Amino acid sequence: MMLTLLISGPKQPGNDIDVYLEPLIDDLKSLWDGIRGVYDAHNGEYFTLRAALMWTINDFPAYGNLSGCVVKGYKACPICGDDTLSHRLKNGHKICYIGHRKWLPINHPYRRQRAAFNGKPEYGTPPEPLTEEEALHMVEDGDRVCWKKKSIFFDLEYWKYLPVRHALDVMHIEKNVCDSIIGTLLEIPGKNKDGIAARLDLLNMGVQSELNEEDNHGVSENLRWLAAGPNMAVPSYRSYLIKGIKFNIKAQDDVWTTQNSGVYLLAHTMQVASAKDKNSILSNMGFYGVIQEIWDLDYQKFTIPVFRCDWIDSTSGLVVDELGFTLVDLSKIGHRNDQFVLASQVKQVFFVDDPMHRGWSVVLSMPNREYNDVIGDDVLGDVRIECEPFTRGMPNVDTFDELMGELGSQNIRDGCEDIWIE
Ligand SMILES: [Zn+2]
Repeated sequence: MMLTLLISGPKQPGNDIDVYLEPLIDDLKSLWDGIRGVYDAHNGEYFTLRAALMWTINDFPAYGNLSGCVVKGYKACPICGDDTLSHRLKNGHKICYIGHRKWLPINHPYRRQRAAFNGKPEYGTPPEPLTEEEALHMVEDGDRVCWKKKSIFFDLEYWKYLPVRHALDVMHIEKNVCDSIIGTLLEIPGKNKDGIAARLDLLNMGVQSELNEEDNHGVSENLRWLAAGPNMAVPSYRSYLIKGIKFNIKAQDDVWTTQNSGVYLLAHTMQVASAKDKNSILSNMGFYGVIQEIWDLDYQKFTIPVFRCDWIDSTSGLVVDELGFTLVDLSKIGHRNDQFVLASQVKQVFFVDDPMHRGWSVVLSMPNREYNDVIGDDVLGDVRIECEPFTRGMPNVDTFDELMGELGSQNIRDGCEDIWIE
Protein backbone atom coordinates (compact mmCIF):
# COMPACT_ATOMS: atom_id res chain seq x y z
CA MET A 1 0.00 0.00 0.00
CA MET A 2 1.33 3.42 -0.88
CA LEU A 3 0.60 6.46 1.23
CA THR A 4 1.13 9.73 -0.58
CA LEU A 5 1.84 13.09 1.01
CA LEU A 6 2.13 16.32 -0.91
CA ILE A 7 3.77 19.22 0.88
CA SER A 8 3.48 22.41 -1.11
CA GLY A 9 5.97 25.24 -0.94
CA PRO A 10 7.17 27.83 -0.38
CA LYS A 11 6.19 27.91 3.32
CA GLN A 12 6.65 24.20 3.79
CA PRO A 13 7.70 23.08 7.27
CA GLY A 14 11.14 21.90 6.14
CA ASN A 15 13.11 20.44 9.00
CA ASP A 16 10.09 20.85 11.28
CA ILE A 17 8.11 18.32 9.28
CA ASP A 18 8.24 15.92 12.25
CA VAL A 19 5.56 17.91 14.10
CA TYR A 20 3.14 17.26 11.26
CA LEU A 21 4.18 13.62 10.98
CA GLU A 22 3.37 12.84 14.65
CA PRO A 23 -0.23 11.69 14.01
CA LEU A 24 1.02 9.45 11.21
CA ILE A 25 3.74 8.00 13.43
CA ASP A 26 1.11 7.31 16.14
CA ASP A 27 -1.00 5.41 13.59
CA LEU A 28 2.05 3.50 12.35
CA LYS A 29 2.89 2.51 15.93
CA SER A 30 -0.63 1.18 16.42
CA LEU A 31 -0.38 -0.71 13.16
CA TRP A 32 2.94 -2.27 14.24
CA ASP A 33 1.42 -3.36 17.57
CA GLY A 34 -1.52 -4.78 15.68
CA ILE A 35 -5.19 -3.86 15.49
CA ARG A 36 -7.42 -6.70 16.58
CA GLY A 37 -10.81 -7.49 15.20
CA VAL A 38 -10.36 -6.36 11.61
CA TYR A 39 -12.80 -8.23 9.40
CA ASP A 40 -11.52 -10.12 6.34
CA ALA A 41 -14.51 -10.14 3.98
CA HIS A 42 -12.89 -12.62 1.58
CA ASN A 43 -12.38 -15.35 4.16
CA GLY A 44 -15.25 -14.18 6.36
CA GLU A 45 -13.17 -14.01 9.53
CA TYR A 46 -11.61 -11.56 11.97
CA PHE A 47 -7.84 -11.05 12.22
CA THR A 48 -5.15 -8.78 13.70
CA LEU A 49 -4.00 -6.19 11.17
CA ARG A 50 -0.33 -5.28 11.29
CA ALA A 51 1.59 -2.90 9.06
CA ALA A 52 5.11 -1.47 8.88
CA LEU A 53 6.49 1.50 7.02
CA MET A 54 9.10 0.09 4.66
CA TRP A 55 10.71 3.26 3.36
CA THR A 56 9.97 6.75 2.20
CA ILE A 57 10.33 7.84 -1.42
CA ASN A 58 11.16 11.50 -1.89
CA ASP A 59 13.39 13.99 -3.61
CA PHE A 60 16.78 14.94 -2.20
CA PRO A 61 15.80 18.03 -0.14
CA ALA A 62 12.89 16.09 1.39
CA TYR A 63 15.37 13.29 2.14
CA GLY A 64 17.19 15.74 4.40
CA ASN A 65 14.02 16.73 6.21
CA LEU A 66 12.73 13.19 6.69
CA SER A 67 16.01 11.50 7.62
CA GLY A 68 17.63 14.32 9.55
CA CYS A 69 20.76 14.07 7.39
CA VAL A 70 22.59 17.07 6.07
CA VAL A 71 22.05 17.20 2.29
CA LYS A 72 23.77 20.48 1.46
CA GLY A 73 27.31 21.83 1.57
CA TYR A 74 30.58 19.95 1.68
CA LYS A 75 29.16 16.85 3.45
CA ALA A 76 25.98 16.56 1.44
CA CYS A 77 26.10 12.81 0.88
CA PRO A 78 24.44 10.91 3.74
CA ILE A 79 26.14 7.70 2.60
CA CYS A 80 29.67 9.09 2.38
CA GLY A 81 29.15 11.34 5.38
CA ASP A 82 32.41 12.88 6.54
CA ASP A 83 34.21 11.28 3.59
CA THR A 84 32.06 13.04 1.01
CA LEU A 85 34.40 14.16 -1.76
CA SER A 86 33.44 17.71 -2.55
CA HIS A 87 35.05 20.70 -4.13
CA ARG A 88 34.06 24.32 -4.25
CA LEU A 89 34.19 25.70 -7.78
CA LYS A 90 36.13 28.96 -7.83
CA ASN A 91 34.41 30.29 -10.90
CA GLY A 92 31.06 28.53 -10.75
CA HIS A 93 30.61 29.42 -7.05
CA LYS A 94 29.00 26.07 -6.36
CA ILE A 95 30.00 22.97 -4.48
CA CYS A 96 30.45 19.97 -6.71
CA TYR A 97 30.73 16.31 -5.79
CA ILE A 98 33.49 14.31 -7.37
CA GLY A 99 35.35 11.02 -7.29
CA HIS A 100 32.48 8.93 -8.56
CA ARG A 101 34.77 6.41 -10.23
CA LYS A 102 35.27 4.70 -6.87
CA TRP A 103 31.83 3.14 -7.25
CA LEU A 104 32.93 1.30 -10.42
CA PRO A 105 33.97 -2.36 -10.31
CA ILE A 106 37.59 -2.57 -9.20
CA ASN A 107 38.89 -3.61 -12.67
CA HIS A 108 36.75 -1.21 -14.66
CA PRO A 109 38.80 0.46 -17.47
CA TYR A 110 37.62 3.94 -16.49
CA ARG A 111 39.50 3.64 -13.21
CA ARG A 112 42.83 3.55 -15.08
CA GLN A 113 42.02 6.28 -17.58
CA ARG A 114 43.67 9.50 -16.58
CA ALA A 115 43.34 11.92 -19.47
CA ALA A 116 39.57 11.53 -19.74
CA PHE A 117 39.17 12.34 -16.05
CA ASN A 118 41.24 14.38 -13.61
CA GLY A 119 44.63 13.13 -14.76
CA LYS A 120 44.77 10.50 -12.02
CA PRO A 121 43.78 6.86 -11.75
CA GLU A 122 41.16 5.89 -9.16
CA TYR A 123 41.98 3.14 -6.64
CA GLY A 124 39.38 4.07 -4.03
CA THR A 125 36.53 1.81 -2.95
CA PRO A 126 32.99 2.93 -2.28
CA PRO A 127 32.15 3.80 1.33
CA GLU A 128 30.20 1.29 3.36
CA PRO A 129 26.86 2.76 4.32
CA LEU A 130 26.30 3.04 8.05
CA THR A 131 24.53 0.09 9.51
CA GLU A 132 21.09 0.90 10.79
CA GLU A 133 22.15 1.00 14.40
CA GLU A 134 25.33 2.95 13.69
CA ALA A 135 23.19 5.62 12.15
CA LEU A 136 21.04 5.85 15.26
CA HIS A 137 24.10 5.84 17.45
CA MET A 138 25.59 8.73 15.50
CA VAL A 139 22.35 10.64 15.76
CA GLU A 140 22.06 10.16 19.48
CA ASP A 141 25.59 10.72 20.68
CA GLY A 142 28.52 12.73 19.72
CA ASP A 143 29.38 13.59 16.16
CA ARG A 144 26.40 15.39 14.69
CA VAL A 145 28.23 17.05 11.81
CA CYS A 146 26.14 15.24 9.24
CA TRP A 147 22.88 15.24 11.17
CA LYS A 148 20.41 18.00 11.80
CA LYS A 149 18.07 16.10 14.12
CA LYS A 150 16.97 12.68 15.20
CA SER A 151 14.24 11.83 12.73
CA ILE A 152 10.82 11.10 14.16
CA PHE A 153 10.82 7.85 12.20
CA PHE A 154 13.22 6.46 14.80
CA ASP A 155 10.21 6.50 17.15
CA LEU A 156 9.09 3.45 15.23
CA GLU A 157 10.81 0.63 17.07
CA TYR A 158 11.69 -1.26 13.88
CA TRP A 159 13.05 1.78 12.00
CA LYS A 160 16.64 1.33 13.17
CA TYR A 161 16.69 -2.22 11.75
CA LEU A 162 15.67 -1.28 8.24
CA PRO A 163 18.57 -1.51 5.78
CA VAL A 164 16.99 1.05 3.41
CA ARG A 165 14.97 3.77 5.09
CA HIS A 166 14.77 6.40 2.39
CA ALA A 167 14.71 6.06 -1.36
CA LEU A 168 15.16 8.85 -3.88
CA ASP A 169 12.50 9.34 -6.49
CA VAL A 170 14.40 9.45 -9.76
CA MET A 171 11.86 11.58 -11.57
CA HIS A 172 13.31 14.92 -10.43
CA ILE A 173 16.90 13.77 -10.67
CA GLU A 174 16.60 12.39 -14.19
CA LYS A 175 14.65 15.41 -15.33
CA ASN A 176 17.25 17.84 -14.01
CA VAL A 177 20.22 15.89 -15.35
CA CYS A 178 18.51 15.43 -18.70
CA ASP A 179 17.67 19.14 -18.90
CA SER A 180 21.30 20.04 -18.25
CA ILE A 181 22.72 17.59 -20.79
CA ILE A 182 20.30 18.55 -23.55
CA GLY A 183 20.70 22.24 -22.72
CA THR A 184 24.47 21.94 -22.97
CA LEU A 185 24.56 19.77 -26.10
CA LEU A 186 22.13 22.01 -27.97
CA GLU A 187 23.61 25.19 -26.47
CA ILE A 188 20.17 26.39 -25.40
CA PRO A 189 20.56 29.90 -24.00
CA GLY A 190 20.06 29.92 -20.25
CA LYS A 191 20.25 26.13 -19.99
CA ASN A 192 23.77 25.64 -21.27
CA LYS A 193 26.10 24.58 -18.47
CA ASP A 194 29.17 25.06 -20.62
CA GLY A 195 30.68 28.49 -20.27
CA ILE A 196 33.87 30.30 -19.41
CA ALA A 197 33.40 29.57 -15.69
CA ALA A 198 32.87 25.86 -16.32
CA ARG A 199 35.93 25.65 -18.58
CA LEU A 200 38.12 27.43 -16.06
CA ASP A 201 36.88 25.21 -13.23
CA LEU A 202 37.58 22.07 -15.25
CA LEU A 203 41.06 23.37 -15.89
CA ASN A 204 41.60 24.12 -12.20
CA MET A 205 40.57 20.58 -11.33
CA GLY A 206 42.99 19.11 -13.84
CA VAL A 207 40.23 17.88 -16.12
CA GLN A 208 41.60 18.06 -19.65
CA SER A 209 38.48 17.79 -21.70
CA GLU A 210 38.72 17.56 -25.45
CA LEU A 211 37.14 20.97 -25.51
CA ASN A 212 39.90 22.28 -23.31
CA GLU A 213 42.78 20.85 -25.27
CA GLU A 214 42.33 23.26 -28.10
CA ASP A 215 41.94 26.33 -26.04
CA ASN A 216 44.14 25.91 -23.06
CA HIS A 217 43.33 29.16 -21.28
CA GLY A 218 41.43 30.09 -24.42
CA VAL A 219 44.57 30.28 -26.51
CA SER A 220 45.49 27.77 -29.19
CA GLU A 221 49.05 26.82 -29.94
CA ASN A 222 48.82 28.54 -33.31
CA LEU A 223 47.68 31.70 -31.60
CA ARG A 224 50.73 31.58 -29.34
CA TRP A 225 52.97 31.53 -32.39
CA LEU A 226 50.98 34.35 -33.92
CA ALA A 227 51.29 36.37 -30.72
CA ALA A 228 55.06 35.95 -30.80
CA GLY A 229 55.03 37.85 -34.08
CA PRO A 230 56.54 36.99 -37.44
CA ASN A 231 60.17 37.04 -38.37
CA MET A 232 61.05 40.63 -39.18
CA ALA A 233 62.76 39.59 -42.37
CA VAL A 234 59.79 39.11 -44.68
CA PRO A 235 60.38 37.46 -48.02
CA SER A 236 58.30 38.97 -50.78
CA TYR A 237 57.40 37.31 -54.04
CA ARG A 238 56.45 38.44 -57.50
CA SER A 239 54.45 35.30 -58.02
CA TYR A 240 52.89 32.81 -55.62
CA LEU A 241 51.00 29.57 -56.15
CA ILE A 242 48.12 28.81 -53.77
CA LYS A 243 46.00 25.67 -54.19
CA GLY A 244 47.06 25.44 -57.80
CA ILE A 245 46.19 29.06 -58.53
CA LYS A 246 48.92 31.47 -59.53
CA PHE A 247 48.81 34.96 -58.07
CA ASN A 248 51.10 37.67 -59.43
CA ILE A 249 51.85 41.13 -58.26
CA LYS A 250 50.75 43.88 -60.64
CA ALA A 251 54.33 44.70 -61.64
CA GLN A 252 54.73 41.11 -62.80
CA ASP A 253 51.52 41.20 -64.81
CA ASP A 254 52.69 44.37 -66.55
CA VAL A 255 55.65 42.46 -67.95
CA TRP A 256 53.80 39.32 -69.02
CA THR A 257 50.82 38.77 -71.21
CA THR A 258 48.94 36.92 -68.50
CA GLN A 259 46.94 38.55 -65.77
CA ASN A 260 47.03 37.07 -62.30
CA SER A 261 46.90 40.05 -60.00
CA GLY A 262 43.15 40.56 -59.72
CA VAL A 263 41.45 39.48 -56.51
CA TYR A 264 37.98 39.50 -55.06
CA LEU A 265 37.23 39.48 -51.35
CA LEU A 266 33.80 38.73 -49.97
CA ALA A 267 33.77 40.34 -46.56
CA HIS A 268 31.22 40.31 -43.81
CA THR A 269 31.16 43.97 -42.89
CA MET A 270 29.15 46.61 -41.16
CA GLN A 271 27.52 49.00 -43.57
CA VAL A 272 26.17 52.44 -42.83
CA ALA A 273 24.32 54.62 -45.31
CA SER A 274 25.93 57.79 -43.97
CA ALA A 275 27.98 59.07 -41.06
CA LYS A 276 24.77 59.96 -39.23
CA ASP A 277 23.10 56.64 -39.92
CA LYS A 278 22.66 54.76 -36.66
CA ASN A 279 21.06 51.74 -38.30
CA SER A 280 24.16 49.96 -39.46
CA ILE A 281 23.60 46.58 -40.99
CA LEU A 282 25.90 43.60 -41.13
CA SER A 283 26.09 42.19 -44.60
CA ASN A 284 28.34 40.56 -47.13
CA MET A 285 30.17 43.02 -49.31
CA GLY A 286 32.46 42.34 -52.23
CA PHE A 287 35.75 44.13 -52.73
CA TYR A 288 37.90 44.09 -55.85
CA GLY A 289 41.63 44.68 -55.79
CA VAL A 290 44.93 44.36 -57.56
CA ILE A 291 47.85 42.69 -55.81
CA GLN A 292 50.79 45.06 -55.31
CA GLU A 293 52.95 42.94 -53.04
CA ILE A 294 53.01 39.35 -51.86
CA TRP A 295 54.49 38.75 -48.41
CA ASP A 296 55.07 35.44 -46.73
CA LEU A 297 54.96 36.05 -42.99
CA ASP A 298 57.12 33.55 -41.14
CA TYR A 299 55.79 32.48 -37.73
CA GLN A 300 58.39 29.72 -37.30
CA LYS A 301 55.87 26.87 -37.19
CA PHE A 302 54.00 28.00 -40.26
CA THR A 303 53.97 30.79 -42.82
CA ILE A 304 51.05 32.97 -43.76
CA PRO A 305 51.00 34.53 -47.22
CA VAL A 306 49.35 37.94 -47.35
CA PHE A 307 48.65 40.27 -50.25
CA ARG A 308 48.96 44.03 -50.15
CA CYS A 309 46.40 45.25 -52.62
CA ASP A 310 45.09 48.39 -54.17
CA TRP A 311 41.39 48.06 -53.48
CA ILE A 312 38.90 49.64 -55.81
CA ASP A 313 36.73 52.20 -54.08
CA SER A 314 33.36 50.57 -53.49
CA THR A 315 31.34 53.70 -54.11
CA SER A 316 33.03 55.56 -56.98
CA GLY A 317 34.84 52.70 -58.67
CA LEU A 318 32.22 49.98 -58.76
CA VAL A 319 28.99 49.61 -60.74
CA VAL A 320 26.81 46.82 -61.99
CA ASP A 321 25.75 47.44 -65.56
CA GLU A 322 22.35 46.85 -67.11
CA LEU A 323 23.26 43.26 -67.96
CA GLY A 324 24.37 42.44 -64.45
CA PHE A 325 28.08 42.58 -65.20
CA THR A 326 30.27 44.05 -62.52
CA LEU A 327 32.37 46.93 -63.82
CA VAL A 328 35.29 48.46 -61.96
CA ASP A 329 37.34 51.59 -62.51
CA LEU A 330 40.88 50.49 -61.76
CA SER A 331 42.03 54.07 -61.24
CA LYS A 332 39.66 54.63 -58.30
CA ILE A 333 41.62 53.34 -55.36
CA GLY A 334 40.09 53.41 -51.88
CA HIS A 335 40.27 51.69 -48.52
CA ARG A 336 43.91 52.77 -48.20
CA ASN A 337 44.15 52.15 -44.48
CA ASP A 338 43.27 48.49 -44.85
CA GLN A 339 45.36 47.14 -47.70
CA PHE A 340 46.38 43.70 -46.51
CA VAL A 341 44.38 40.54 -46.97
CA LEU A 342 45.11 36.90 -46.20
CA ALA A 343 45.84 35.09 -49.43
CA SER A 344 43.47 32.34 -48.32
CA GLN A 345 40.56 34.76 -48.21
CA VAL A 346 40.53 35.92 -51.80
CA LYS A 347 39.28 34.54 -55.08
CA GLN A 348 41.11 35.27 -58.30
CA VAL A 349 39.39 37.51 -60.83
CA PHE A 350 40.32 39.12 -64.14
CA PHE A 351 39.72 42.64 -65.27
CA VAL A 352 39.03 43.04 -68.98
CA ASP A 353 38.64 46.47 -70.60
CA ASP A 354 34.99 47.14 -71.36
CA PRO A 355 34.74 48.42 -74.94
CA MET A 356 31.28 49.87 -74.19
CA HIS A 357 32.32 51.97 -71.21
CA ARG A 358 35.58 53.85 -71.47
CA GLY A 359 37.76 53.61 -68.37
CA TRP A 360 35.83 50.67 -66.95
CA SER A 361 36.80 47.02 -66.81
CA VAL A 362 34.53 44.01 -66.69
CA VAL A 363 35.20 41.58 -63.85
CA LEU A 364 35.54 37.97 -64.93
CA SER A 365 36.06 35.08 -62.58
CA MET A 366 38.12 32.02 -63.20
CA PRO A 367 36.28 28.73 -62.97
CA ASN A 368 37.45 26.56 -60.12
CA ARG A 369 39.79 24.05 -61.64
CA GLU A 370 43.34 22.87 -61.37
CA TYR A 371 45.44 25.41 -63.12
CA ASN A 372 48.80 24.28 -64.41
CA ASP A 373 51.72 26.48 -63.73
CA VAL A 374 52.49 27.37 -67.31
CA ILE A 375 54.65 30.41 -67.46
CA GLY A 376 55.39 31.98 -70.77
CA ASP A 377 52.98 29.74 -72.65
CA ASP A 378 50.00 31.35 -74.17
CA VAL A 379 47.49 30.50 -71.47
CA LEU A 380 45.60 33.74 -71.85
CA GLY A 381 43.53 32.57 -74.78
CA ASP A 382 42.58 29.46 -72.91
CA VAL A 383 41.69 31.37 -69.81
CA ARG A 384 39.53 33.83 -71.67
CA ILE A 385 37.45 31.09 -73.14
CA GLU A 386 37.00 29.46 -69.75
CA CYS A 387 36.21 32.68 -67.94
CA GLU A 388 32.73 33.27 -66.73
CA PRO A 389 31.19 36.68 -66.37
CA PHE A 390 31.43 37.77 -62.79
CA THR A 391 27.87 38.78 -62.13
CA ARG A 392 26.18 39.59 -58.93
CA GLY A 393 23.02 37.79 -59.86
CA MET A 394 20.76 38.02 -62.88
CA PRO A 395 19.69 41.44 -64.11
CA ASN A 396 16.40 42.40 -62.54
CA VAL A 397 13.15 42.28 -64.47
CA ASP A 398 12.93 46.04 -65.09
CA THR A 399 16.34 46.12 -66.70
CA PHE A 400 15.44 43.12 -68.78
CA ASP A 401 12.22 44.74 -69.98
CA GLU A 402 14.03 47.96 -70.83
CA LEU A 403 16.52 45.99 -72.80
CA MET A 404 13.78 44.19 -74.62
CA GLY A 405 12.13 47.53 -75.36
CA GLU A 406 15.28 48.85 -76.95
CA LEU A 407 16.41 45.79 -78.77
CA GLY A 408 13.21 43.84 -79.13
CA SER A 409 12.29 45.09 -82.56
CA GLN A 410 15.67 44.12 -83.96
CA ASN A 411 16.36 40.85 -82.22
CA ILE A 412 13.05 39.15 -81.65
CA ARG A 413 11.36 37.62 -84.61
CA ASP A 414 7.66 38.21 -84.95
CA GLY A 415 5.22 35.48 -85.66
CA CYS A 416 6.88 32.79 -83.62
CA GLU A 417 5.60 31.36 -80.46
CA ASP A 418 7.99 32.45 -77.77
CA ILE A 419 9.50 29.80 -75.64
CA TRP A 420 10.33 31.09 -72.21
CA ILE A 421 12.79 29.21 -70.22
CA GLU A 422 12.76 30.02 -66.58
ZN1 LIG B 1 28.31 9.65 -1.34
